[in-house]
Amino acid sequence: MIRCEPITKMMTLMNPKWNGQFSCFDLVAKTGEHPQTIVRVGDIEIGGNAFVVMAGPCAVESEDQLLRTAEAVAEAGARILRGGAYKPRSSPYAFQGLGVQGLKILSKARAETGLAVVTEVMSEEDVDVVAEYADIMQVGTRSMQNYALLEALGKCGRPVLLKRGMTATLEELLQSAQVVAMAGNPQIILCERGIRTFETATRNTLDIAAVPVLKTVSHLPVIVDPSHAAGVRSLVPTLSRAAVVVGADGLLVEVHPCPEQALSDGSQSLSFGEFRRMMNDLQPYLDLQYPDRQRNQWPARPQLLAVGGAD
Ligand code: PEP
Ligand code: MN
Repeated sequence: MIRCEPITKMMTLMNPKWNGQFSCFDLVAKTGEHPQTIVRVGDIEIGGNAFVVMAGPCAVESEDQLLRTAEAVAEAGARILRGGAYKPRSSPYAFQGLGVQGLKILSKARAETGLAVVTEVMSEEDVDVVAEYADIMQVGTRSMQNYALLEALGKCGRPVLLKRGMTATLEELLQSAQVVAMAGNPQIILCERGIRTFETATRNTLDIAAVPVLKTVSHLPVIVDPSHAAGVRSLVPTLSRAAVVVGADGLLVEVHPCPEQALSDGSQSLSFGEFRRMMNDLQPYLDLQYPDRQRNQWPARPQLLAVGGAD
């Protein structure tokens, strides 16, 4: 059931386009009563006062590939291991993932490194099996409006990482989050991963403004995936730095032992050395961001006076 809240102070600060639409995503909208959600995975807090990095290969390809990557990213400071076992590929001829075997490898890597695991679930039939092995259930860009999947995730008992559809507005992203929340699961992390625009220099266009907009209108944590946004590894460290500076709660980054030989998304995957350097280079930006964050609890966070154009 959709509840209609009275207009709060927050709403009156937003562009009139957004006012009155909060009833469409009221469960995930930021209010004085509900300013912040912290998603907890073991002792990891996403959306609190730490910047959480999730890293690993695009796809789980083998035990050796995943275990080596898990060790390398853990050593560099990542807390969560990513890796697809079920891969939604644009081409039906591309590598589709190892399925349950991939989930088992992820689980072994968790046991060996202590990293938590995030992996994609593509269909509602797979929710139970993925939830058995994963700590966080990833919804990919191509599935953001798969309502049967979203509803099943509402009952899965695991946090959900909801990626923005590549052609979805932020309002549509928040409505999808609302579907998961309405189905019973308030533990949701939003992810900006780039959207499709006329620009062809990058694989997608990272909508960096999405971060402060989402952080203003929603109480959910927001992370950035610079890898799928950029499509090329050389841009990943710069986009990651931008994510820190605009107040993201974390990153989802592709890392591979030998990017040139990756079965998927090698061109945007970082090598171990590149990932380590990126993590080191982020530190001064995190140092600047975090003392500030600890002092500025909501409602003293940045508030947007307008969103969108004046049309
Ligand atoms: C991924 O994270 O590997 C992935 C397929 O991402 P997206 O759904 O954003 O394309
Ligand atoms: Mn990928």
